[in-house]
Amino acid sequence: MEECDMLRKCGFFKKYQETKDLACKGFMVMYCKGSKMNDCKRKLYRQENGKPPLDDMLPTGQIIKT
Ligand code: SF4
Repeated sequence: MEECDMLRKCGFFKKYQETKDLACKGFMVMYCKGSKMNDCKRKLYRQENGKPPLDDMLPTGQIIKT
């Protein structure tokens, strides 16, 4: 299966991969293991800043508020 090459390093994925939250799961299906992986704002952030974003930043760029 095709998946994002950052999957093993990605703080968002590591933190939320076991979540029951359907919205979060949906993002992983669409981005981390889906066709939008190259549109991921986390990836962009890492490229632009040379460091990873907060674990709580979604692939869309929004921050999860808990
Ligand atoms: S959140 Fe983005 S960088 Fe992280 S695994 Fe998913 S697609 Fe890759």
